[in-house]
Amino acid sequence: MLGNDPYTTPVDLPELPAGARWGRAPSHHGTTRATSYVYPGRHVLVLDGETWPHQPETCPDDTGSGEWRLDGLVLVCTGCGLDCT
Ligand SMILES: [Zn+2]
Repeated sequence: MLGNDPYTTPVDLPELPAGARWGRAPSHHGTTRATSYVYPGRHVLVLDGETWPHQPETCPDDTGSGEWRLDGLVLVCTGCGLDCT
């Protein structure tokens, strides 16, 4: 064994502060092959008072850049809120 395989080992989700929680775990992300894979255990970040413009399965953001939220705790897709830390 060469350590944990990120493709089969679910990630450890960090504890979230008040006003934030984990949503569902999508089966895939977007429509392009390059970014469609979702690592096991990745969830959508749900923030009080904020809604994402897209669902992960139909998210048009395939840049993979994302945006840090919660003071750098979680890196999410700005299109759908999927955790990509
Ligand atoms: Zn997205």
